[in-house]
This record gives sequence, structure tokens and C-alpha cells, in this order.
Amino acid sequence: MGEILTGRVALVTGASSGIGESTALELAAAGVTVAVVARRAERLEALVAKIQAAGGTALALPGDVTDEAFATQIVAQTAKRFGRLDILVNCAGMIQSGGIEKADTEEWRRVMNLNLYATLYTCKAAIGIMRAQGSGDIINISSTAGRRAGPGASAYCASKFALTAMTSSMRQEVARDGIRVCIVEPGATTTGISEGVTDEKFRKFISEHVSKEGSMRPEDVAAAIRFVVSLPPRANVSELLIQPTMDTAPI
Ligand code: NDP
Repeated sequence: MGEILTGRVALVTGASSGIGESTALELAAAGVTVAVVARRAERLEALVAKIQAAGGTALALPGDVTDEAFATQIVAQTAKRFGRLDILVNCAGMIQSGGIEKADTEEWRRVMNLNLYATLYTCKAAIGIMRAQGSGDIINISSTAGRRAGPGASAYCASKFALTAMTSSMRQEVARDGIRVCIVEPGATTTGISEGVTDEKFRKFISEHVSKEGSMRPEDVAAAIRFVVSLPPRANVSELLIQPTMDTAPI
């Protein structure tokens, strides 16, 4: 499968940690040139150095993807620098607590801005480039919370449900241009996602949830993403649900 990916060009958002970082490493190991995006520039530089030390090619594009101009520009910049854009992986995301009655509406907007709108911006910018090539893969990272809403994290669930709907619409809009679109829905995966949670109790809950026994590792999700983009162009994995083997919750 590696040969299929050699020479392709990817843009991975949320690549300074967790699933995005692992995805960048996984794709780079398969011969993909990767542009990596997140706000923590020093972590991106360390990732680029690691990829380069292993013989790969990578470029750090530090910044905030909720800034529409930035999110649009990194797509164009990647295509300009490397001559094409084959794979877009939207991993940048966040989770916050909160029910509806006491909802912090500003925090809701922050969650929606990152989990939904930032992905809209990069997708919007990538479609024309991929259409001109006649091929491309767009992978958006949702969650099991995008299939099953629970109490206490309504903004997160709503953002992921909306992301799934947007991604499904997009797949149908671009299918005839040779562009594949996939929504990836991971269950608990041990990453630093709890670090940005403002509510202390919820932060502890999420931290324990993603690191509980049997949780997946970010490289597991990255391997699934590599599988999706490695298939022959005629086959589109449009939805990929990946859960810890030990997870018995119904979806
Ligand atoms: P991490 O917190 O490790 O990764 C989130 C990434 O998003 C970081 O690289 C962070 O980098 C980046 N990011 C956050 N805000 C911005 C921003 N405004 N602009 C640019 N980059 C930003 O968590 P995960 O790896 O777990 O999360 C990745 C995705 O996976 C998310 O969409 C999450 O919802 C999803 N997911 C995770 C699950 C889990 O159990 N871990 C389960 C299901 C889905 P920086 O702070 O440097 O900007």
C-alpha cells in the first residue's frame, strides 16, 4: 500500500499532538509529503524535524484554523509549495462541557468555530485544487459523539453531528470530480484533548475517559486513516467508525 502513497501531498490540521500528529507521522512514513498545522509552532517544528530525520518531507504552518483567511491560505500555500494537494485531514478539534440550560454561548461558538467552521474553510479551499487534479482525499475527524449525543457536552456533540452532515453533503457534491470524502468517528483515544477543557471536573472526566484501560492510541486512528487513503481511487470509505475493542456502548 505504501507505493500508492509515495509522492502524494497532505495537509494535516491539529498536527501538534494526538491523532493529527500520529496521522502526519503515519503518512510521512508512507512517503507522503506533509504540511502540518496547529497553533503551537515549537511542537510543529519538532514534528517536522522528526519526519525529516526519518527521510521524509514536511512543512510547519503554524496558526489558528478558526481564522478563515489563515485556513484558506494554508491550503493554497501547501498546493503552491509542493505542486499539488492530495490529502486533507482535518484533525483540529476541541471538547468542552456544558448542558443547554446554563450554556456558555461564547464557548459554544468557540467549539463550533473550531470543530465545524474551521473544517468548512479548509474543505472549501481544497475542493477546487483537487477537482483540477481529478483526485483527492478529504478526511474529517468526527467522533462517536457525532453518532450518539449524551448530556453535558452538547456543543461538542452538536459540532460533530453537524460535521458529519456537512461531510456527507460534500461527498455527494464532489464524488464525480474524483474526490473521496470520509468521516472518521473514533471512540476513546489517549491524547491530550482534555488539556483544553476549561471546567475542572469535566477535564478530569475526559482525561480519565480517554486514558482508561483499553483506549485506543492515536496511531491506531492514524493507521485507519492511512488505510482509507490507500485504497484504489474507485473505492471511497465514506464513514469509518473505530472504537476500542473493549467498548460495549451501543452506537
Ligand atoms: P489533541 O488535543 O491532542 O489534538 C487537537 C489538535 O487540535 C492539537 O494539535 C491542537 O493544537 C489543534 N488545535 C486546537 N485548536 C486549534 C486552532 N484554533 N487552530 C489550529 N489547531 C488547533 O486531541 P485529539 O488528537 O484527541 O483530537 C483530534 C480530533 O479527534 C478532534 O477533532 C477530536 O474531537 C477528535 N476525537 C478525539 C477523540 C479522543 O478520544 N481523543 C475521540 C473522538 C474524536 P494547538 O493547541 O497547538 O493549536
